[in-house]
Amino acid sequence: IQRLSVFRYIGTNPVAGQRSMSQSSLAGKVAIVTASTEGIGLAAAQALGKRGAHVVVSSRRQANVDKAVALLQSQSIQVTGTTCNVGKAEDREKLVQTTLDQCGGIDILVSNAAVNPFFGNIMDSTEEVWDKILSVNVKSAFLITKLVVPHMTKRGGGNVVFVSSVAGYQPMQALGPYSVSKTALLGLTRVLAPELAHSNIRVNCVAPGVIKTRFSSALWGNEDIMDEFKSQLSIKRVGEPEEVGGVIAFLCSEEASYITGETITVTGGIGCRL
Ligand code: NAP
Repeated sequence: IQRLSVFRYIGTNPVAGQRSMSQSSLAGKVAIVTASTEGIGLAAAQALGKRGAHVVVSSRRQANVDKAVALLQSQSIQVTGTTCNVGKAEDREKLVQTTLDQCGGIDILVSNAAVNPFFGNIMDSTEEVWDKILSVNVKSAFLITKLVVPHMTKRGGGNVVFVSSVAGYQPMQALGPYSVSKTALLGLTRVLAPELAHSNIRVNCVAPGVIKTRFSSALWGNEDIMDEFKSQLSIKRVGEPEEVGGVIAFLCSEEASYITGETITVTGGIGCRL
């Protein structure tokens, strides 16, 4: 009799539907997304904003910030914009302070900025190239996390998502230093997750494949490279920024409440790991 009543309860549970809706909602949350005036960062801001978060968009150029803010406002997304070159300490601090001043706290950080100033044989890469790539792609990702964590802790928890790359798992030969920097983000995710779990902060990562943005136009704009590349894909097309943005928003939502230290590949099925 007891068992039957349990099944009856599950079968008629009226909260089940509502619960899944509220678990995807980010209403009341404040989200910083770096490098978010176009491409994957902008798509992540849109996905977070559509779920109800107040998003703070930024990049190096004011004109790009203004354009992104106008676009998101036209989609009824709550948005604040400011310039921030993630490689500069004073810019990172300004981004965090602006967020606190205008939004009252921080719940989510999407660390998305990256540069790649070098194509070629790794043996031709210089110290200057390595300093730039590691500084922007890895060090600043950590340093901005370090800045926001105390504020997430004050709110009782939060979410950090790093944007790595399929190249972090399967290095691209002509993008050696960049690939290494993206592998480092996989490690950073794994190191931070257990430490920040004590503060109820989850730390995850996405590893996109080839996504149609300006950054990767040298790849998807070249037919020969793409023909070769498509042989590795299960889904035989380039990805769209929105297809990464949605995964980032999922990781920041309660739907992902038991996921931390994880990297989700968003590659159209490139076999880069088991
Ligand atoms: P994107 O469309 O070219 O956009 C780059 C954004 O970054 C712009 O908003 C740009 O604006 C900003 N930005 C550049 N340098 C910055 C800096 N130092 N500080 C702050 N903002 C900066 O690039 P994306 O393809 O979306 O790339 C985003 C992330 O996805 C990167 O981490 C990249 O490695 C990763 N990813 C991309 C692909 C792909 O196929 N597209 C694949 C795997 C991983 P400003 O010029 O105004 O600064």
